[in-house]
Amino acid sequence: MTNPFWSPALADLQPYVPGEQPRGRKLIKLNTNENPYPPSRKAMATLADPALPEALRRYPDPESAELCAAIAAHCGVKAEQVFVGNGSDEVLAHAFYSFFRRDEPLLLPDITYSFYPVYCNLYGIEYGTPALRDDFTVDVEDYKGPAAGVILPNPNAPTGRILALDEIERLLQLHPARVVVIDEAYIDFGGDSAASLIDQYPNLLVIRTLSKSHALAGLRLGYALGQAHLIEGLQRTKNSFNSYPIDSVAQQLGAVAIGDEDWLEETSGKVVATRSRVAEALHELDFAVVPSMANFVLARPRGMAAETVYNALRERGILVRYFNKPRISEYLRISIGTDDEMDALLAALREILRATD
Ligand code: PMP
Repeated sequence: MTNPFWSPALADLQPYVPGEQPRGRKLIKLNTNENPYPPSRKAMATLADPALPEALRRYPDPESAELCAAIAAHCGVKAEQVFVGNGSDEVLAHAFYSFFRRDEPLLLPDITYSFYPVYCNLYGIEYGTPALRDDFTVDVEDYKGPAAGVILPNPNAPTGRILALDEIERLLQLHPARVVVIDEAYIDFGGDSAASLIDQYPNLLVIRTLSKSHALAGLRLGYALGQAHLIEGLQRTKNSFNSYPIDSVAQQLGAVAIGDEDWLEETSGKVVATRSRVAEALHELDFAVVPSMANFVLARPRGMAAETVYNALRERGILVRYFNKPRISEYLRISIGTDDEMDALLAALREILRATD
């Protein structure tokens, strides 16, 4: 029975279930696409800044001006083309509220980031889910017709598949009067960013995060890139909700982290190299491996149920992600960890598969 104090709208909410963050027991954690390497040392040094206590006594800069300037420099855009939020989940929430509450359905792939339908539910947005092709790629021609807008991650999650820039342009041209959100949470691990298109397309919003390639999931920083009128729209929503979303520590640390290009190049290079090696090894273990441009791989064990493998890994202290959802229930999503962590995963898989021979 529902609680009598709950509004009908609250009773109808189906909240997002985040990937497990185990406390206590030491696990090899390959389930939430975190970066296995520590964040930029230069960025961490900002925590010892003697000016920090004074900054914390006051409210933070509501515009996050320095952080926006650092993001603009990193992405090759103007500061007024940047919006920041508490993780890209918050930026996405504001984008859904600002642009997608219309009479037509929002279009998103049938297999994608599962927070999108949650926001649709929260804000009463109808949505349509064109099916990915059998190889999990997007067919942009399926996105024709009246729509409140389009959202897709590129690379997609949990598939890791990438859409080329000319196909993104096709999507933008299909819906010139609607916002197309390209969620680039994983773009630093492969593929071309659509950020280069924002001056050309007034309907393009690119959303990114410092949670993955910058190893700052715990800091909660995400951002959007788009023409000034879209950024203004997001600010209007943000200022109706929380005008100080980014705390002073995150503003300062994030600005330095985003500027540490050498760190980014080195660590994402390591993740990409480990990804190729792991994809090859999984293939040798007779997994079907979806080609990935992200910091995870989606892979299907043959001859054994994915859920059984998931549980057997868990018993061995290794956490991966299993989705009990149509089309991907026979797959596991495995985040790319350090080489040692991946060696432990591969050894455990060999053992599990050998036990069934
Ligand atoms: N977009 C996609 C596609 C994701 O996989 C995630 C991470 N779960 C996010 C956005 C949100 O990331 P964050 O809120 O940490 O920036």
